[in-house]
Amino acid sequence: MFASNMLAGKTALVTGSTSGIGYAMASKLAESGANVVLHGLMDSAEGEALRQEFEQKYGVQCLFNGADISTADGNEELVAASLEKYGEIDILINNAGIQFTAPVEDFPVAKWDAIISINLSSAFHTTRLLVPGMQQRGWGRIINIASVHGLVASLNKAAYVAAKHGIVGLTKVVALENADKGVTVNAICPGWVDTDLVAAQFQARADRDEVSFEEGKRSVIVEKQPMPKATPPSSLGDLALFLCSDAAATITGSSLPMDGGWTAQ
Ligand code: NAD
Repeated sequence: MFASNMLAGKTALVTGSTSGIGYAMASKLAESGANVVLHGLMDSAEGEALRQEFEQKYGVQCLFNGADISTADGNEELVAASLEKYGEIDILINNAGIQFTAPVEDFPVAKWDAIISINLSSAFHTTRLLVPGMQQRGWGRIINIASVHGLVASLNKAAYVAAKHGIVGLTKVVALENADKGVTVNAICPGWVDTDLVAAQFQARADRDEVSFEEGKRSVIVEKQPMPKATPPSSLGDLALFLCSDAAATITGSSLPMDGGWTAQ
């Protein structure tokens, strides 16, 4: 669909790209020629190994940064290191996220604060710091990884659902502010995706029902999602790549579900 080097000459920052969806997205961008900032909670030796893996596999330049982005300072450190290496970031994917489930009356305050700061405020900080450069160059792509929980709710996920609805709102505002500046801003709203983030929920169901992990996983998925299978992270990478293409230049402010029919109901 796209030229193999579609993103040659571009630089991308993908938060939370040491695993799961972020790793898949960073892989797709690097495969298409973008230089990439890899980021996530990993020690520097593992980060260096990941950086080398990407450079050897895709022949692009990579930087690893392990900043904790639960604070404004952490986000500033990540952006400063990225700009020091590349001078500019053309593609920003706000992907890092965590999960915790409990009824609202039992929800630990520290977990609420962590989810709001990592899943929502981080995107505000990286965007406010990087969008001026995109505006100056007249080209940019910001992709926020929201969730179906940016569109609908589920029990016991007060902080996660609040943060994901928040990031959908942030996406719309920044899209409007940049509609005439060559910068598009969109949210992707996945249903169930096969990653570490949700493995604990699948395992908990398997333990409760005394069945295998795979049976526990299917049981959790079909409760909400008409399609009884999780989306592979690589498919989300392909959607992000499409949003970076010229074909997607007029898609902005949208929240695109990739959810096996979850939000069609
Ligand atoms: P994951 O656990 O595999 O990856 C999370 C990434 O975020 C890791 O790189 C981790 O190091 C990083 N991270 C977490 N806390 C951090 C912190 N304080 N500072 C720096 N980095 C931090 O999870 P995933 O499933 O790939 O999730 C990625 C995004 O996709 C999240 O925003 C999540 O909410 C969203 N999402 C996931 C699913 C799913 O089913 N897996 C569904 C919808 C949305």
